Amino acid sequence: MSRRAIITGITGQDGAYLAKFLLEKGYKVFGVARRSSHFGVVDHRLRWLGIQNDVEIIDGNLSDLSSLYRIVQQAEPDEVYNLAAQSFVASSWQQPILTANITAVGVTNMLEAVRQIAPKAHFYQASSSEMYGKIQEAAQSETTPFYPRSPYAVAKLYGHWITVNYRESFGMHASSGILFNHESPLRGIEFVTRKVTDTVARIKLGMASKLHLGNIDAKRDWGHAKDYVVAMWMMLQQEEADDYVIATGRTTTVRDMCRIAFEHAGLKMDDHLVIDPKLFRPAEVDVLLGNPAKAKAKLGWEPTTSLEDMIIEMVDADIARLSSV
Ligand code: NDP
Ligand code: GDP
Repeated sequence: MSRRAIITGITGQDGAYLAKFLLEKGYKVFGVARRSSHFGVVDHRLRWLGIQNDVEIIDGNLSDLSSLYRIVQQAEPDEVYNLAAQSFVASSWQQPILTANITAVGVTNMLEAVRQIAPKAHFYQASSSEMYGKIQEAAQSETTPFYPRSPYAVAKLYGHWITVNYRESFGMHASSGILFNHESPLRGIEFVTRKVTDTVARIKLGMASKLHLGNIDAKRDWGHAKDYVVAMWMMLQQEEADDYVIATGRTTTVRDMCRIAFEHAGLKMDDHLVIDPKLFRPAEVDVLLGNPAKAKAKLGWEPTTSLEDMIIEMVDADIARLSSV
C-alpha cells in the first residue's frame, strides 16, 4: 500500500517540488487547490515539473473548514503538509485581515480537520524565519525569541504556536519547520530573487532596461526549495514531532545576490539598477541568518545548493522561458 499525503498549497513553489519528491517516493498525493476562473493557470508549476496528471487535485480553501473536512475524509492521509498561505510579506500590509484569516486561522482549520478525522496523521506546518523579524540573536535557532515585523510574520507566529499547542494538547504528531528563504525557478515573481532573475533575463533579451528595487542592504539566508522540501518530509518520518530551523547558515545582501545575476548574464549592475523608495517596507527585517545545527544532528539534513548556483539556474531558466514565448 502506498502512503498517502495531502499538500495544501500544492500549486505554489514548495507544494510543486514536494509533490514531485513524494511521487518519486511512491506516495499517492492529494493537493488542495482553490478554484480560479483562469483555465490552465492554477497548475502551471505542476506542469513545469511534468506531474500535473500524477496528483489528485481537490477543490478547497483554507478558510472553509467544511472543504477541509471533506478533503481529509476523502484522502485518508498518513501525512499532511500545510503549505498554503498568503505568503508575500509586502502584500500582508495591504491585506492584513485576509493574511490573518489564511496564514494564521487557516492553520487551526487544517489542524482541526486532521484532529477530528485523521488524528494519527503526521502534520507539517510551514513556519517562517520572518517570525524572528527584529532579530534577538545573531544566528537564529529553535530557541531564539521571536519578534515579528509584518502582519505576515505575526500570522505565521500564530500558526507556529497553534501547531505546538495541538502537539502538546492532543498528542498530535505535529511538527513546525522554521524555514529561511528558499527560492528556485518556480519562485513567485514578486519575491526579490525571482524579480531580479526575471528582470535580468529581460534586460539580456532587450525586453527591459531597468531593474527597480527597494532596500538592497537587507540580508537573507537563501537556500534552494528543492533541498528544503526534503527537510519537511524528514521531519514527518521522526518518531517524535518537533520544530526545526532549516537554513544554509550563510547570509548575503540583496545587492550581492543581484550582482551574481547580472554578472552571470554578462551585464553591469550599475547600468540598470534603480532604487525606488516606494518599494521600501513600513517595517523591515534587516538581516536573517539561520543556525541549522539541530536539523543536521537530528534529521541528517544539509543544504546542497550554493546561492551562486541557484541564482545562475534561475537566470538561465528565465532566459529560456522568455526566449520561448
Ligand atoms: P507560494 O506563495 O508559492 O504558495 C502558496 C500556496 O498557498 C499557493 O498554492 C496558493 O494557492 C495557496 N493558497 C493561498 N491562499 C489559499 C487559501 N485561502 N486556500 C488554499 N490555498 C491557498 O509559497 P511557497 O511555496 O514559497 O511557500 C510555501 C509555504 O511556506 C507558505 O506557507 C509560505 O508562507 C511558507 N514559507 C515560505 C518560505 C520561502 O522562502 N518560500 C520561507 C518560509 C516559509 P494559489 O496558487 O491559488 O495562489
Ligand atoms: P521576504 O524575506 O519573505 O520578505 O522575501 P522577499 O524576497 O520578498 O524580500 C527579501 C528582502 O528583499 C526584503 O528585505 C525586501 O525589503 C528586499 N527587497 C528589496 N527590493 C525588493 C523588491 O523589489 N521586491 C521584494 N519582494 N523585496 C525587495
